[in-house]
Amino acid sequence: MVIIMNPEATSQNIDEVIKAINSVGLEAKIMEGAQQKIVGVIGDKTKLASVAIDALPGVESSVAISKSYKLASREFHPQSSVIDVSGVKIGGSEPVIMAGPCAVESREQLLKSAKIVAEGGAQFLRGGAYKPRTSPYSFQGLEVEGLKYLAEAREVTGLKIVTEVTTVEGIEPVAEYADMLQIGARNMQNFGLLKEVGKCKRPVLLKRGLAATIDEWLNAAEYIMNAGNPDVVLCERGIRTYETYTRNTLDLSAVAAVKHLSHLPIIVDPSHGTGKWRMVKPMALAAIAAGADGLMMEMHPNPARALSDGSQSLTPEHYRSIMSGIKKLATFLREENLIGLDE
Ligand code: PEP
Ligand code: MN
Repeated sequence: MVIIMNPEATSQNIDEVIKAINSVGLEAKIMEGAQQKIVGVIGDKTKLASVAIDALPGVESSVAISKSYKLASREFHPQSSVIDVSGVKIGGSEPVIMAGPCAVESREQLLKSAKIVAEGGAQFLRGGAYKPRTSPYSFQGLEVEGLKYLAEAREVTGLKIVTEVTTVEGIEPVAEYADMLQIGARNMQNFGLLKEVGKCKRPVLLKRGLAATIDEWLNAAEYIMNAGNPDVVLCERGIRTYETYTRNTLDLSAVAAVKHLSHLPIIVDPSHGTGKWRMVKPMALAAIAAGADGLMMEMHPNPARALSDGSQSLTPEHYRSIMSGIKKLATFLREENLIGLDE
């Protein structure tokens, strides 16, 4: 439930509302709306039956939230959130680009990649140091050594670092070296891990599960937010369907759906979403046109030699060409006022 205060409500009125909510064992969260304050109620709203909230001074109305997730919902937080990751704002007027190899393979490979990524204009370097591979015999990642190379690449280029965390024990080292923690598709419903990254101070990039509905995905975001971390960015990366030509089916309609249902920023990963480097450019441009707040793309200095996901990795040349296209498209969309949903 959210309680909408009228624009003239005093801070004393708000305190009384919070006291009434707390008196039945529920938690209150205050949000600043454009015109008025909103008080969100967390917990079992049936407990509020004994309190006449609507009758309290300063209360304009109360609205039940129909969704199982609350903190992540737009009903609860009508304004779109902008998530600040070490000074880079995700969800603002500029699309934010994260690019880099699937995995950190060596110091040389990573520093070379970082230079290309930075020169192309992206803000983030991606690269897995812990790789959740389908086969236990595939390259599993360089772990802490890989994290150190990522941190060195940040020193050299100024790029922010986003990298995956796959276990609870991995949170501390990844948070020490990275600017943003990535929860991969395979862990989207690893609730123990979600609760622990919720206690962490670093922003989280939450990828959509391999076969997750949008509702399940937003509930996964809710786990992180409910544990105390409000800085969640969603990432659509394709879902399993009956189609086999592509690695996954990139669900670009999820961008529009999430924009309606949630205030959280959403970016798109056309690399894992298609599994084919040729499809990355059209899907990247389509994602921006659909209103995505950014992109995550795999780029390798030599995709043919990549230890993972070479077939979906861009060459440096293709990466540069996509970056220039994105820039032009984003400017056009902004100038023509073509972004956003009609309400
Ligand atoms: C990745 O980004 O490296 C990755 C493993 O992606 P996903 O979790 O979306 O499969
Ligand atoms: Mn990959």
